[in-house]
Amino acid sequence: MTRIVVKPADLDLESPGRRDYWVALEHDTMWGAQLIPLTVWVGPQAQRGKGLVAFGSTHGNEYEGPVALRLLLGEIDTANVTGRVILIPVLNVEAFRTGTRDSVEADRVNLNRAFVDGAGKQPTLAGISHRIAAFVRDYIWPQVHVVIDLHSGGNQIRFDICSSFHPIEDAEQSRLIADTARWFGVPLIMVYQNNSPGLLTSEAERLGKITVGTELGWGEAVLRKGVTYGRQGVLAAAIHHGQLAGKIEPIAHHADNTQKCAAIVDFECYVPAPFAGHYEEVLPCGARVKQGDIVGRLHDFARIDETPWPVRAGVDGIVVGQAWAARVRQGQFILCVGREQPWPPAGVR
Ligand SMILES: [Zn+2]
Repeated sequence: MTRIVVKPADLDLESPGRRDYWVALEHDTMWGAQLIPLTVWVGPQAQRGKGLVAFGSTHGNEYEGPVALRLLLGEIDTANVTGRVILIPVLNVEAFRTGTRDSVEADRVNLNRAFVDGAGKQPTLAGISHRIAAFVRDYIWPQVHVVIDLHSGGNQIRFDICSSFHPIEDAEQSRLIADTARWFGVPLIMVYQNNSPGLLTSEAERLGKITVGTELGWGEAVLRKGVTYGRQGVLAAAIHHGQLAGKIEPIAHHADNTQKCAAIVDFECYVPAPFAGHYEEVLPCGARVKQGDIVGRLHDFARIDETPWPVRAGVDGIVVGQAWAARVRQGQFILCVGREQPWPPAGVR
């Protein structure tokens, strides 16, 4: 296997067969290039504008996605690809290099807030993160109708492992997204707010694409089950949306019908730390709680003789996420409880 270095304009995402690329984007400071790994398979029934893309490491310190996609590079057989499959195991190569959420040694930008107007086009938005966003817009979006963005909690949040999407108005797009999310086999489906500007998945959803995100683990580790869920979700999406031949069976919480769904759309779902301190878990992620239940405690060691601050559920529901690293900053969301939703919705497999 030869991996070819190309400029984005020289990518071939249309001819039949498999190609492995390093996509070269100009480096901001070093005499060199940022090299983004991209593998494409194009099958005999590929249609213009149709295909699946899966991204790993939109944030640089989230690792289950990159590992799942890297393993799939060796697993997907070109002979089984009917349409178009594009895997980008590490999208944010600069942040991945430093093992950080944002590109801290380059433009200091969060790639998952970089999908804004003028990204990569205006001189003030010309750093690597905005140019990666422009690359995705110009070269990937026109080739795909299914978008999977594999995240994890990094060093801030531990999750009830989930696949996720935003509330969508279009009923059919919404049904297809929910179905795709279910096939990851994860314990939780998370429906989350769509207020943050510049999200990769929000843009894909607005473009009408079947878009699913995930939180596959936490702690800057590689959790085995997170890798398993990631692999399953990508393969199922490729098969069900006509890009890969074959059959796939449901796994884990999908197979035994124990999946839950929680919406974290309202601000009452989130608890920001009122002061900087150390977070202690009391109840695990995935627990069902009532509003006011104590899920964690926040310790202020400068006031060591005072009672720790009880971190209470803001709503009735499911503990979706809570602080991972003990040391938290004032204002950081240290608890997130989602309102439980009926699941699965009608028409979802
Ligand atoms: Zn992330």
